[in-house]
Amino acid sequence: MTKKQLVLIGNGMAGVRCIEEILKLGGNELFEITIFGNEPHVNYNRIMLSAVLAGDMTMKDIEMNSLSWYEENNISLYRNETVIKMDCKKQVIYTDKGREAPYDHVIIATGSNPFILPVPGADLKGVISFRSIEDCEAMLETAKDYKKAVVIGGGLLGLEAARGLLNLGMNVDVVHLSEYLMERQLDETAATLLRQKLEEQGMKFLMTKMTSEIIGHDRVEKVKFKDGTETVADLVVMAVGIRPNTAVALESGIEVNRGIVVNDFLQTSVPNVYAVGECAEHRNIVYGLVAPLWEQGKVLAGHVTGRSSNTGYQGSVLSTKLKVSGVNVFSAGEFFDSPTSKSIRVQDDFAGVYKKVVIRDNKVIGAVLYGETAEGTKLFNMIQSEEDVTGLSSVNIIQSESTKDLGVALALADSDNVCGCNGVTKGEIVRAIKEEGLCSITEIGNCTNAGRSCGSCKPIIGEILAATIGEELSQTKETVCGCTSLSHEEVVNSIREKGLTHTKEVMNVLGWNSEEGCSKCRPAINYYLGMVQPTSYVDERQSRFVNERMHANIQKDGTYSVVPRMYGGVTNPTDLRKIADVAEKYNVPLLKVTGGQRIDLFGVKKEDLPAVWAELDMPSGYAYGKTLRTVKTCVGENFCRFGTQDSIGLGIELEKKFERLNTPHKVKMAVSACPRNCAESGIKDVGIVGIEGAWEIYVGGNGGATLRKGDLLAQVATSNEVIEITGAFLQHYRETGKYLERTSHWVERVGLDVIKARVVNDQEFRNELNERMNVALSALVIDPWKEIIESDSLKKELFTTNRIEALQ
Ligand SMILES: Cc1cc2nc3c(=O)[nH]c(=O)nc-3n(C[C@H](O)[C@H](O)[C@H](O)COP(=O)(O)OP(=O)(O)OC[C@H]3O[C@@H](n4cnc5c(N)ncnc54)[C@H](O)[C@@H]3O)c2cc1C
Repeated sequence: MTKKQLVLIGNGMAGVRCIEEILKLGGNELFEITIFGNEPHVNYNRIMLSAVLAGDMTMKDIEMNSLSWYEENNISLYRNETVIKMDCKKQVIYTDKGREAPYDHVIIATGSNPFILPVPGADLKGVISFRSIEDCEAMLETAKDYKKAVVIGGGLLGLEAARGLLNLGMNVDVVHLSEYLMERQLDETAATLLRQKLEEQGMKFLMTKMTSEIIGHDRVEKVKFKDGTETVADLVVMAVGIRPNTAVALESGIEVNRGIVVNDFLQTSVPNVYAVGECAEHRNIVYGLVAPLWEQGKVLAGHVTGRSSNTGYQGSVLSTKLKVSGVNVFSAGEFFDSPTSKSIRVQDDFAGVYKKVVIRDNKVIGAVLYGETAEGTKLFNMIQSEEDVTGLSSVNIIQSESTKDLGVALALADSDNVCGCNGVTKGEIVRAIKEEGLCSITEIGNCTNAGRSCGSCKPIIGEILAATIGEELSQTKETVCGCTSLSHEEVVNSIREKGLTHTKEVMNVLGWNSEEGCSKCRPAINYYLGMVQPTSYVDERQSRFVNERMHANIQKDGTYSVVPRMYGGVTNPTDLRKIADVAEKYNVPLLKVTGGQRIDLFGVKKEDLPAVWAELDMPSGYAYGKTLRTVKTCVGENFCRFGTQDSIGLGIELEKKFERLNTPHKVKMAVSACPRNCAESGIKDVGIVGIEGAWEIYVGGNGGATLRKGDLLAQVATSNEVIEITGAFLQHYRETGKYLERTSHWVERVGLDVIKARVVNDQEFRNELNERMNVALSALVIDPWKEIIESDSLKKELFTTNRIEALQ
């Protein structure tokens, strides 16, 4: 059978997903597939640009289909090439590079163009939109040299851009035309709570302002409003809406209204020409979120292959989540009050929670949740299934008992949607786990598409996975990153079994799917290699982040902060004098005592770092490493009236013993001499508390964003036993913790009882752990800063861009 020519115009999210659906139906037997995309990249997850901007992901992480995917599926990909028009009679498309491509079927998936306000100055340098990798890169670059950003538009996109810019250290004004934010997704109460929360995070809002002009000479300097007021701007991000990109259709005589008009099978007004995604208009609606676009792609794939009959695309109910860390917002369906609907409302100002569910004819038709959004999935399913809620109490609707008792995942029925973006039900996920033997969220995503878009459903998918195959099994198979299908444990085991010694070798032998790896796997492999072969392994500094390499933390203005070590938080006149001299000589603008009882020198210039360290002549505090940071101590028995133990002595001993030790994540310790706990031992990775005649050892505490009280691991009589159990605990964490897993998560994952059994109760196992710990410690002979100061070549190596930065 001769294959037909299938051409896709637009290498973006909707089009490529449609091709994936076509391939699933055996499209390779039917079609020669050609894709034209006018971006230089492979298909990437546009949604996650917000996460890249916020610093949570890298560009590499958001790639959805690698070049090898196109090759493996025999797809001819033309990047950086724009289709300008089609001759629909001859069935040929024409590109800006002079190429002519014949087609039997063509799918237009050209997405949208961001709307740029038609005001004077909109074309000035520094005025951008938020749609592509290039926009994201422009913001990342601008934030390095400029301070003030103005985001025009307080909708979903604008707020995500603003949050990202705040993370990059910019001051951000959000300009919005309406009285309240996200007015298309939120009611006034939720929007007000959202605004308060974002203001707490540092965002400033200029509400009910209409932009009239952007002022500047070469680049933007100010934004002016219709009421005559102005605000200063080094960067303007326009996030005021999108317009369907219909240029090719218009050039080719295809019917266009707001978008390219399509019927229920995504057919345009011209035979063999289809449209999907944001460029298409179905029953007068143009969609701007991915969930409907995936549904459209599935319908079109079935239709064009003739291999999956369906009743056509019927339109979609939408739900929205805001991807801003620390802010939970969900909305779906019709959530405004009307004379024909009734609402259930819960508002808890103290907890910062607001929930509203709108009901008409005994069916939930819409919901807004702020603060607590776990019920979102359940409510969205009720809206979609039009479930009759007669007889249910208001409390049961707004927070179903089953969700409260069982957790979200178990409370869902098999027919309930888990991934709203991709329309994947719990039943489909469970079936895939069982039938395909899936063990990780990544594998579930690859098989079912669940979690592959905005990713907010991943925790629920994880719960379903754990409930289906058991907690232990499900967790051991979480992959290191997208470059490999191997889990952390599998990588460590392979390093041991195959005797691997170098990062590149690990990647080659274990079949990494990217040559250089990424910023997630490179430092992880570097850590695992060092942990497995402490005496023979040579640290690959280039696989560490800049802060770790330079023993200084980069600040938002590009200068560095430097923290010398002060064992147990104790200092002396000589060291204080040295710090004062260095601070004066190098014009250090801020000296600050840290929460970990150290002195931090802020504002050191990069080029001064070697001299500053040389003149301080104190060990590095490793303030930014994945290692022991600080051991905080209280005053203790020598001076304190209540102190029953020598907390300072023990703290210094612990810090001297374990300093510079590489661990999966940072480790903080504290020693308090009595239960008054002045050193805050209860919220440290290892916290020691003196009681009459004994020491208590607490582990897995965390005082950061997710507060966790440490668990009591053991009570011992002597400080020697404290050191022995701490050593065994740390070594066990080093050997079984995943890179970047804090002890608080590790203790919960492995279980306190298991750790106690190995580290406290099994003397033989404890001895073995301590032996391996001592080997690791003996390999740490020199303070790296000394090495750096003494070696010009090392200085040069460290101060040039490293692999990790290049990968970001
Ligand atoms: C920062 C950001 C955050 C978002 N967050 C969410 C979210 O949380 N949830 C959600 O559901 N949605 C979100 N979205 C929206 C989502 O990304 C879009 O709905 C989705 O990308 C639309 O897919 P598409 O294929 O229609 O368009 P696109 O992904 O834009 O793909 C269209 C492609 O066609 C190319 N093209 C255009 N014209 C031509 C031509 N003539 N020749 C060749 N190529 C052409 C374009 O360059 C582009 O690569 C977000 C969008 C952004 C920008």
